Amino acid sequence: MSMLAEGRPTKQETNVTMPDQNAITTHTGNRALMVDEPLIFEIGSPDRSGVDLPEAPQVESRLGGLERKAPIAIPGLSEGETVRHYTRLSRQNYAIDVGLFPLGSCTMKHNPRLNEKIARLKGFADIHPLQPVDSVQGALGVINELAVWLIKLTGMHGVAMTPKAGAHGELCGILCIRAALEARGDAREVILVPESAHGTNPATAAFAGYKVEDIPANAAGRVDLEALKARLGPDVAGVMITNPNTCGLFEPDMKAISDAVHAAGGYVYCDGANFNAIVGKVRPGDLGIDAMHINLHKTFSTPHGGGGPGSGPVVLSEALAPYGPLPFTERHADGHITLVEEETVEDRHPHTFGRMSAFHGQMGMFTRALTYILSHGADGLKQVAEDAVLNANYILRSLEDVLDAPFAHSGPCMHEALFSDKGFTNDLTTLDLAKGMIDEGYHPMTMYFPLVVHGAMLVEPTETESKAAIDQFIGAFRSVAERAKAGDELLKSAPHFAPRRRLDETQAARKPILVWTEPEDFAEAAE
Ligand SMILES: *Cc1c(COP(=O)(O)O)cnc(C)c1O
Repeated sequence: MSMLAEGRPTKQETNVTMPDQNAITTHTGNRALMVDEPLIFEIGSPDRSGVDLPEAPQVESRLGGLERKAPIAIPGLSEGETVRHYTRLSRQNYAIDVGLFPLGSCTMKHNPRLNEKIARLKGFADIHPLQPVDSVQGALGVINELAVWLIKLTGMHGVAMTPKAGAHGELCGILCIRAALEARGDAREVILVPESAHGTNPATAAFAGYKVEDIPANAAGRVDLEALKARLGPDVAGVMITNPNTCGLFEPDMKAISDAVHAAGGYVYCDGANFNAIVGKVRPGDLGIDAMHINLHKTFSTPHGGGGPGSGPVVLSEALAPYGPLPFTERHADGHITLVEEETVEDRHPHTFGRMSAFHGQMGMFTRALTYILSHGADGLKQVAEDAVLNANYILRSLEDVLDAPFAHSGPCMHEALFSDKGFTNDLTTLDLAKGMIDEGYHPMTMYFPLVVHGAMLVEPTETESKAAIDQFIGAFRSVAERAKAGDELLKSAPHFAPRRRLDETQAARKPILVWTEPEDFAEAAE
């Protein structure tokens, strides 16, 4: 029996006859360690408490009639019950520390524990943003050194470290572009965004007050250069291009695009969230890019998902750097680091558009990212890109016989493999396949994105997965894909083994119920 690296044999390899799992029920509804955990309100009771408090003494109220009239209605649980509730919920989380996380465009890679150790050092974790700069020279040194690395890796002129996420970085870059255009008295109205861009790109341009116009993709999934050139003109402030794009493909015409945009008086914003595919291999500055955000929480590890934390420094060209936000670090010849803030701005940085955030940026992300960079070194970072691309191509080529891979004919992919739902039968969809992957023990891949591909499935394995882990994922993906093509009716009601079955996701998104209200029979039971 061959064992895979994760120690889990596949079902076929165990040779044990398994009874039909759907036929087995349990008294509790639980399935071994998968506990069907109720809401904390449903297990709590108002008359229980984690502590013994003495009766409140009878004192005259001084609240002037504002006393609470009804019970506070928070669940009462003992300490032990509370710990169990949250621990059980936490075990239902899927996380990168639990298994392969194939979400495309998210770069869910292993986060080395060394990063955590460094980020928790008192000198980084316990300082205050308003401390005098003389007392935080080490922390400012980290920000400054990371800034130097980011500028070197991208071949750009400057970097704004304060944006707190990728989308925040996009806004910062677009505000730099607007400031540069306004400085030359040439306010323009339109930002061009190719179809293959990430959704945050048009959202950012619209948020900054620009009209957004689409540029079509060509048959090879890239920006249609001729269509872009044809649309350029005196009203176009710039373009926002995701490179590598959301089809997992490199834009080979990037330099030609930049040259054309510059010739028409516009600027080039590049969404650099997919930098993991090219770090150490391509310098965006060489491609004529004016501004690009880097998701430290993707390319340079640091845990993310579930909404944060993030950090989105923006590297800037010589043309845009003078408009970058405050504050930023400045290293002097004697090694002393100062912050350029409003007070010092007149002589040092007069054209700044302002601030992106209150203080210096995400210190915890900076320490993690710099630790990651220093522990890899320049050669290691290059290998990150090479291995990430190799892993994605391994998945693409291993599955293209069973799944439609719309751009596989145009050559290798970058860091993510793209498939479509072509060939599924019995009205089965990408969503059904994704739910089937949950039963196989995987977080689903990115679905229905990019929009240019019908029923898209985007898989980004990253460089940190072993071949054995990827083989196991491919096996699961292949098995569910074959079921989708064969029209397996059971897939329509998957997942079957998760604590929650198929949910009405539209209803959940459109009409979320965010507040627990006590059902009537529940109130009676509590009395
Ligand atoms: C993740 C991502 C973003 C947005 O980054 P956030 O940090 O989530 O704001 C933008 N573009 C692309 C291509 C991404 O993958």
